[in-house]
Amino acid sequence: MPSPTPDPSATTRPARPVHRAHWAPWRRAEARRGVGTMAVLFTLYCALVLATRLLCRDDAGYESFWPANAVLLVALLVLRPRQAFGLLAICFVADVTVLRFGAPIDAEAVLASVLNVAIALIAAPLTRRFCGATTDLTHPHRFAMFVPIALGAASIEALVGILVETYVLADPADPFADWMQWVMCDALGLIIATPAVIALVRRRIASDAAASPRVVGALVALSVALALVSFLLPGTPLFLLLFPALVLVAFCASAVTGLLVVLVVSVIVSAFTAHDLGPIARLSPDGHLMRVAFIQPFLFALLLVVVPTSNAVGAKRRYMRRLSGLQARMAETAARDTLTPADSRLHFEASLRALIARGGHGALLLIDIDHFKRVNDGFGHQTGDLVLVEFARRLIEAAGMHQGRVGRLGGDEFALCLAVRLPRDALDLFCRGVIARLRQPYRIGTEDHVFTASIGATPIEAGPARMEEVMRRADHALYAAKAAGRDGHAIADRIEAAEPALLSVSA
Ligand code: GH3
Ligand code: MG
Repeated sequence: MPSPTPDPSATTRPARPVHRAHWAPWRRAEARRGVGTMAVLFTLYCALVLATRLLCRDDAGYESFWPANAVLLVALLVLRPRQAFGLLAICFVADVTVLRFGAPIDAEAVLASVLNVAIALIAAPLTRRFCGATTDLTHPHRFAMFVPIALGAASIEALVGILVETYVLADPADPFADWMQWVMCDALGLIIATPAVIALVRRRIASDAAASPRVVGALVALSVALALVSFLLPGTPLFLLLFPALVLVAFCASAVTGLLVVLVVSVIVSAFTAHDLGPIARLSPDGHLMRVAFIQPFLFALLLVVVPTSNAVGAKRRYMRRLSGLQARMAETAARDTLTPADSRLHFEASLRALIARGGHGALLLIDIDHFKRVNDGFGHQTGDLVLVEFARRLIEAAGMHQGRVGRLGGDEFALCLAVRLPRDALDLFCRGVIARLRQPYRIGTEDHVFTASIGATPIEAGPARMEEVMRRADHALYAAKAAGRDGHAIADRIEAAEPALLSVSA
């Protein structure tokens, strides 16, 4: 019967899974979050709306930034669709009713609240698609992607808002200036608050900090105090010190803590300026829009001081962590034998050298399988490997009874080091026990086979001996054991006993 022609596609590499673009505004992978996260987000939303509306709004009704929309965006990114839309609805209702704090609910208020939801709905699929959604937005490239997303979403939302205000509500204000203010206000709010809110939900605040919590706390307190004092006391240049204080926070705290501090400082700066206090109120000419236009670059400057610094410091920290992980893995690999569960030669010699250097008592055994070449020749190299693995396992078991270590020196030669003082008779007994254990049958296929080994042993005495000497003694003893007919052991008592004739050999 002719053999079937092989399918060419079967031999080529398997097709890579198609990467589908995820444009859905929600993320199914995060669906395990529940009512607790909803409650945290709702509390945060109310706090941010009240803080901005009550503290940061000037008498003309302008805010310099609006961070609460970040909560709506994060809700869409981390909650189940039903929960996310539920939270958006609750926040909307709260926004147009209680959170207005007694102000009249007019068409403009409803429009602003609708557009707050709209900006989150525009930004969510873009963030999810280009920034990895719920992942850490403080990463440099994700943050760099998020800035244009926030600006784009704010531009669209503000454009709709201005068109409705101008043509439907017939608001006589300057549409372009209003649009600019609106875009900057909402974009800044998203850019400053979203990474911090995501981190809050994912409880990532303390991770990645370089300094102790006490130092971080002191620097955070210093930055907040500087913001308060420099905007409260008239005519001080203290606000200039805010920049180095924030750089220090960025150096010592996690990226998220840095962003949270910027958020708090931004609220303080906006609040004081909205109430005609602080250096920006003095610097900016009259006119509410102009004043807001002065604060926004200031807040952006605060953000730009923190983000690149904490990104660079965070990247270095991550790099160092990866490097030390790699170092640990390399050390672990170097310590293990490549085939058997025994230590590598390098690692074994290092522990033996350490034992001798600290003047410890013990014993060294060199163990070599008798006629191992025949195992390879008779059963194949692969079976030879399995025998070596099982051989090492038995040696480790034997060594374990006396807190010993086993290393593979190469080929079929192993070394066993005991770190306890054994009298001559006890060492002799131990060697016999090891040989008996190694002589137990090995199962190859369906049959049992017996392989023997020879041992050269030497006690390690406290004193100025060198590892090489101890090794040489054990090696001579092994040679003697082999010469005496194999399947036995020899013990070299002293360095001088390197002559085979002086060795005590037992079969
Ligand atoms: P002796 O009783 O004198 O020790 O005889 P022997 O046949 O064991 O001789 P020797 O120790 O010199 O031979 C070791 C053999 O072990 C030679 C080599 O082919 C084989 N060998 C070395 N490394 C490996 C390995 O990783 N796997 C396998 N299966 N065989 C190995
Ligand atoms: Mg051998």
